Amino acid sequence: MLGTTEIFLSDRAFLSIILSSVEVYKNECHGALLGIQSQRRIIAEYAIPFQAAERKFSEVTPNWRRELKVIEVLPKLVHLQKLGYFHSHPQFGNKRGTTELSEFDKDFMQEGETEIVVAINDARKTLPWTESKTGLSGTLGKYRITIAGFYKRKKDGKIVRYRVLCPYAVGFDYAFKR
Ligand SMILES: [Zn+2]
Repeated sequence: MLGTTEIFLSDRAFLSIILSSVEVYKNECHGALLGIQSQRRIIAEYAIPFQAAERKFSEVTPNWRRELKVIEVLPKLVHLQKLGYFHSHPQFGNKRGTTELSEFDKDFMQEGETEIVVAINDARKTLPWTESKTGLSGTLGKYRITIAGFYKRKKDGKIVRYRVLCPYAVGFDYAFKR
């Protein structure tokens, strides 16, 4: 189900999300999102990877969200609010990672919070970065990456999928060409 709200990623949030997903591949990366939230628009200015997370494949450490101490102090310093979190779903063996939320993911989402899920898999071919209703996707080196956004509504606790937009990502292929 698609809402009308869109999630915008700044260039630094986008880079931080994809680089931390690549860095720990084939483990999961986790982190917090900071930015600005209004009725129709969620803008992620910063994505802060949680370096101390125990990195194992698939949902074995569901408490990582509560251990992010940095999110208590950082929003005050930069005058931004905590929007929610991001994490990756890497390929495991032949099983490709998807952007679908797991039951664990759903349980740990708080109302009014955004969750960015990054599906990261071995790339079969090089593809340009594009935005679609299923997410923002493209390749980085030998990785195929799709970024999807979810939001847990306050009014009914329902989790909805929002479009993820990043103007910077569309020019990303050019930025990284030698
Ligand atoms: Zn997950």
